[in-house]
Amino acid sequence: MDGTVAEAAALLRDRSEILIFSGAGISTESGIPDFRGPSGVWKTTDPADFTLQRYLADPDFRRDSWEKRFTATTLHGAEPNPAHRAVAKLWNRGRMIGCVTQNIDGLHATGGLPLFALAELHGNVHGMMCVRCNSRPERTDIEQRWHDGEPDPKCEGCGGILKTTTVLFGEQLPERDMNRATLWAAAADAVIAVGTTLSVYPAAFIPMDVASRGMPFVIVNEGPTEMDHTATVRLEGKAGTLMPQLVDALTDAD
Ligand code: NAD
Repeated sequence: MDGTVAEAAALLRDRSEILIFSGAGISTESGIPDFRGPSGVWKTTDPADFTLQRYLADPDFRRDSWEKRFTATTLHGAEPNPAHRAVAKLWNRGRMIGCVTQNIDGLHATGGLPLFALAELHGNVHGMMCVRCNSRPERTDIEQRWHDGEPDPKCEGCGGILKTTTVLFGEQLPERDMNRATLWAAAADAVIAVGTTLSVYPAAFIPMDVASRGMPFVIVNEGPTEMDHTATVRLEGKAGTLMPQLVDALTDAD
């Protein structure tokens, strides 16, 4: 049921191992469209375009992908917003076990959250990898080679196809991040899901695991989610407004 920030804060007041589970909606106020919101990417783009199989088989598609990555995408130059900074504040005040994100934009880290407190289940658009030898070249090197005239740069070690570490359809989730998220879900004493329809699996099992152990489950979202019926309290509205209010209410009493 919809509630107030004060009600959510009261539920979480004595909790120190809160798990944050974030989705694309936490970054819309940074100018990055979500997938299923009113101006979401799936309104204009076919999900079938984002498969590993297509990426590996189609050099033109790879060239387009690199061009988008290194030029005019909304991810380029996006800045963290007050919701990302509120998550970092909750961590700095010692109230969080970690943040599991479905986002690929890297804004939790630039918003001040240490990498060891973050599990990026769907990878990161700024990370680079070779699909053959799994090496992780520096983004700046690949970007420089692209600017120097290599439209589809290959791995310098083995000649394999390079991609960002963003997880495409048909690709495994990164093992280290999934293990971390699973451990945190088993030990968290509350969960806040923010800016997510809670409809993408296996990611959505993470908040579900915490809630199924009877821990408080707070949803902060603009619009309905798939798990509204299981929330202890639901806050309807903008993450950039509600998250700072909630975190301030929780930490100002410390
Ligand atoms: P989603 O698009 O399914 O849901 C986003 C939800 O957030 C919607 O309900 C939307 O109404 C809500 N929302 C939008 N702006 C909001 C705001 N300012 N405050 C609060 N709520 C807001 O996204 P999802 O659940 O994360 O799942 C879809 C997939 O989207 C994930 O796999 C993720 O990898 C990918 N994705 C990531 C980014 C990113 O990295 N920023 C962007 C687009 C998609």
